[in-house]
Amino acid sequence: MAENESRIEQQVKDRVKAFNRQRIAPMIAIGFLIIAFSHLPLIAGYELPPFYFAMICPLGFFFLLVTFVLSFRQAVIIFSLSIFFLAVFLFLKQICPAFFFMSALVSAGAFAVSQKIARDFIKTATEEVSTTDRLKLEAATDYLTQLLNRDGLEQAVETAWAFCKRNKKHVGFIMADIDYFKSYNDVLGHLEGDKILRKIAECIETCFKRQTDIMSRFGGDEFIIFVSGIDDDQILEMAKALSSTIYSLQIEAADQHNAFKFLTVSMGIATSDLQAHDLSIDLYRQVDKALYRAKARGRNCISFNGKIIKTEPEPIGEACIETK
Ligand code: GH3
Ligand code: MG
Repeated sequence: MAENESRIEQQVKDRVKAFNRQRIAPMIAIGFLIIAFSHLPLIAGYELPPFYFAMICPLGFFFLLVTFVLSFRQAVIIFSLSIFFLAVFLFLKQICPAFFFMSALVSAGAFAVSQKIARDFIKTATEEVSTTDRLKLEAATDYLTQLLNRDGLEQAVETAWAFCKRNKKHVGFIMADIDYFKSYNDVLGHLEGDKILRKIAECIETCFKRQTDIMSRFGGDEFIIFVSGIDDDQILEMAKALSSTIYSLQIEAADQHNAFKFLTVSMGIATSDLQAHDLSIDLYRQVDKALYRAKARGRNCISFNGKIIKTEPEPIGEACIETK
């Protein structure tokens, strides 16, 4: 939460900087115009009253205050400088006290306006940044399970992929698909089907707790988890743990062809020691094929490195075949 707030704060600061940067050029142009116009009567040969030049200073500060988005400290500094210069002119008797007070009043007004501009700008920018953040998050999140959706997964994996490549980390995808999920929808209805999907998502969150684990509902009843920084044996253990956690939910099997008493998942695993030319799309393809093999080999099993690994418990009917 605090991390999110400081990120928003930083983005707002960046917007303030960008806004101010855009205004530097027009401000310089205005400055030159003021100086040029203030010298026009001189060029025309007129004698100027002494306060004429004294006016330019507070006018410049006035424009500074109302043109840029300034922090309270910056505005105070500019306001103080404005008063200081007016005081110098007053001391040198270039301006009368009435002119001093009038200009000081104008500067104070400009100070107040400047702070209102800054407050409004920051409020609007904060709202915009928060809304953009929320929309981005919603676009990357699966509404049903609150895991990442396919887009979210692909974005997160792309970032992690580059990091893992740089740091030579071992990475892997675990793809899990609920066995005979359609039958749960057919027998229990879609709402119950949705509840099951949410429970599976909770199991995934229970089993993959490391900050670097990226969990998603890839679509339908298919989930993908991206893991990094652990070896093949550990990845396999995590997949097995997920399988038994899901089985221990004891959701009664709904399909008559199901060889198991409770709901099971089939899984494919694909891993890689990332090399410079490796693309995530190739590992997606591998894990998809691995899952397909697990389904073809009787379900409720894990396909990894060309092997089929049985997961507990033993089937009631058809066996899950172990092959090399
Ligand atoms: P298999 O063991 O081969 O994976 O069989 P299956 O029945 O699980 O596979 P299939 O791909 O035929 O069925 C997936 C089903 O998931 C079909 C679809 O109706 C259902 N489904 C997809 N998205 C949702 C959803 O958001 N909610 C619910 N309740 N069902 C969904
Ligand atoms: Mg399925």
